[in-house]
Amino acid sequence: MHVLILGGTTEARALAGLLHARPGLRVTSSLAGRVARPRLPEGEVRIGGFGGADGLAGWIGGHAVDAVIDATHPFAGRISFNAARAAATAHVPLLALRRPGWVPAAGDRWTSVPSLEAAAGALGGLGERVFLTTGRMGLAAFAGLPQWFLVRSVDAPDGPVPARTEVLLDRGPFTLDGERELLARHRIDVLVTKDSGGAATAPKLAAAREAGLPVVVVGRPPVPADVPVAATPEEAAAWVLGPV
Ligand code: NAP
Repeated sequence: MHVLILGGTTEARALAGLLHARPGLRVTSSLAGRVARPRLPEGEVRIGGFGGADGLAGWIGGHAVDAVIDATHPFAGRISFNAARAAATAHVPLLALRRPGWVPAAGDRWTSVPSLEAAAGALGGLGERVFLTTGRMGLAAFAGLPQWFLVRSVDAPDGPVPARTEVLLDRGPFTLDGERELLARHRIDVLVTKDSGGAATAPKLAAAREAGLPVVVVGRPPVPADVPVAATPEEAAAWVLGPV
């Protein structure tokens, strides 16, 4: 049996680790190729786009794939819809692995918005010094703003950024102590984040809560209808392996 994991997340790597080297199972992980030095999962890896839903359907057929798990990031909206179309075309089962979104706790001062553009619009009046953790893509939405920005991303932004921007290249997991120190050192007034979910980047939310800072939270794009969803790599592995 050949399983294709559409990856680029911690959960996709964990799933590849759970399925790798199982008797009778071949696992291929696919990465988009966005990150210069990605953390590679165990097992076979291919890197680069497929050429849309039709290209993905062709790859599935050409490599005798029996099942697909879309374990891409909750904000990678296009590949998930491509996966749904391709799996239907190629007549293979598809599972989405999606870590649950974050939920506000007592003391949180969150403003929920539907897009990066809306996040930029929500920043007025929330403070002068912004910690922007939405990734290096899509920063153009903030480019015209007058505030000072600390942009944290894995690789350097390559599009337009706000005029007053400091870039911090770093990759999670992050610690609460580290995030506290960062907020204090840069005298941050407001945090902007996607609702990525998961533990690796959650400490910034706790640090903002402790400091009483407002947080602008960008909501997730829609997921394709009728695709079953697993919340953890273990659940997704059970979907492949059956009850053990
Ligand atoms: P996207 O907008 O959904 O996808 C854009 C295109 O990138 C897709 O149409 C596809 O190209 C290619 N692609 C995406 N994921 C792929 C994969 N796993 N394997 C092969 N090709 C893939 O995605 P994105 O937001 O640019 O994110 C790209 C990758 O980074 C994803 O795999 C995601 O898991 C990871 N990531 C994204 C974020 C985020 O915030 N968006 C954060 C962390 C990690 P073709 O149409 O040519 O097949």
